[in-house]
Amino acid sequence: MSPGFVENHAHLMLMGPTLPAMEANTTWEDFAIHGARMAEMYLMQGFTTVRDAGGANGGLRRAIEAGQIDGPRFFPSGAFIGTRGGHADFANFTAPPGSETNMSRLNLAQEVSGVDDVYKFARNNFRMGATQLKFMQSGGVVSAFDPWQLLAGSPEEIRAAVQVANEYGSYVMAHSYRKEAILSALDAGVMSIEHGFSFDCDIAQVMNEKGAYITTNLTAFDPGLLDIPAVANVPSSLAKAKSASATFAGYIDNMKECPVKRGFQTDCVGSVEACNIQIAYEKHLNNEFFGPYQSMVTLTSIGGEIVALSGDFMNPYTDGKLGVIEEGAYADILLIDGNPLEDFSVVGTGDQWFGADPRPESPETIRLIMKDGVIYKNTLD
Ligand SMILES: [Zn+2]
Repeated sequence: MSPGFVENHAHLMLMGPTLPAMEANTTWEDFAIHGARMAEMYLMQGFTTVRDAGGANGGLRRAIEAGQIDGPRFFPSGAFIGTRGGHADFANFTAPPGSETNMSRLNLAQEVSGVDDVYKFARNNFRMGATQLKFMQSGGVVSAFDPWQLLAGSPEEIRAAVQVANEYGSYVMAHSYRKEAILSALDAGVMSIEHGFSFDCDIAQVMNEKGAYITTNLTAFDPGLLDIPAVANVPSSLAKAKSASATFAGYIDNMKECPVKRGFQTDCVGSVEACNIQIAYEKHLNNEFFGPYQSMVTLTSIGGEIVALSGDFMNPYTDGKLGVIEEGAYADILLIDGNPLEDFSVVGTGDQWFGADPRPESPETIRLIMKDGVIYKNTLD
């Protein structure tokens, strides 16, 4: 028996295949249908709670809670908040600054220039059903305009996001890569560091003082990262990936030496089938790097603590704890055939990423999936 798993960093609406394609060719129907299918897939993989890290508003949760579609408890961040040329800038290359985009019309990503923009779009996110905010504070690898080392957003802009989140009793999650970015986010009051690849023992000390959390997609440390198509086929991404891999090499050892509370993150953008594979592989890498016990804690109780940061007003699920099995907690429970501490594969791992065979709709070893006392899968009889 296990608490239902908690995904702390997904993008249920973002179907890919690339960021420019979503800007140019993807309609609201495409996003909505993809999001509904992703929600169902996550639940059947044993995730009874998902935090969305940008690109989803409150509509998907409404459909899940109304019983129109099956899905996990859902904590969306609304639109990504980011600067021009930053990691949330999906505009066409020729688009002038501040222009309306497909992503901004649907409130999936918003470009900010100055604290007034941050106030405007941060408050709008909460109005649209967000439970926390997502600030893009660093660049990325598989994106067009941003070096991964970018320090995006002034301290004032990040603090403005934290201020609005605090007005709602909630918090900010920040996409932060470089040590300078992570420390400045923590200084501004950010409670959830996303990716945090330059993590080290100095950062651990500050995080522990502030009670902050980190979630990291361990696929970034996959030895085959440089061969994946989205990286290998784009020279600028390949160059960025090489320099990033070199800088991020200390993460695993640093996390073992100076542990902090680390949540599970898949960060998949792509088809439902590809994300199903990536989730299973992310589970596998957690066990490879940190062993089964720490991986179970990451998949369950720490995840429950992270989503609870959304506070008493914005958290839609305040009647009990998530990510644990105890009296008074929500009845989000998995029955698993086997002991994950002896054989971690029973939680539904996959040991291959690109080129892996399609995965089953639900792992055979997860025999029962219950959310809020309702059974969504039962192969016990
Ligand atoms: Zn992400």
